[in-house]
Amino acid sequence: MGFQAYQGEGWLLTKAEQLINWGRSRSPWPFPYGTACCGIELMAALAAGYDMARFGAERVGFSPRQCDVLIEAGTITKKMVPILKTIYDQMAEPKWVIAVGACACTGGVFRTYSTQQGISDIIPVDVYIPGCPPRPEGILYALLKLLDKIEEDHPLYKQRQEVAESLEAAK
Ligand code: SF4
Repeated sequence: MGFQAYQGEGWLLTKAEQLINWGRSRSPWPFPYGTACCGIELMAALAAGYDMARFGAERVGFSPRQCDVLIEAGTITKKMVPILKTIYDQMAEPKWVIAVGACACTGGVFRTYSTQQGISDIIPVDVYIPGCPPRPEGILYALLKLLDKIEEDHPLYKQRQEVAESLEAAK
């Protein structure tokens, strides 16, 4: 769904929620969390050759408080679980997560006691990218899918969910 507006000479009409979503989907601020080999593919996707910046994601940040898209690229060991959770918790709402590669999605080839078998048990994931590793094109495609999702979500979706859950719990 695109940004819908009605335009005439000197005026423009649209809905506030569409305007908010349009703005959010044009300026994602990624937090690149590369923990293993998939991180290299993420670096390639961010660099000039693939140029993630052309989709509005040029402002890569290293403070979770100033980012809204966590891109987790690589294996997460059990020792890293609290760190990943803390990073996610420090990001302000609304926030989204992309899991890059088999390790982030399911633990990948590391069926071991010390490896987290997918990050979705720790934090909510919006887009999963398969592959070991996925190519930078796959990461760009996932970003575009996420931007579509942001555009279609209600801007206050999570807040509405929380209110609904608290009302349900109060019954
Ligand atoms: S999915 Fe493959 S390439 Fe990516 S971090 Fe795991 S082992 Fe490395």
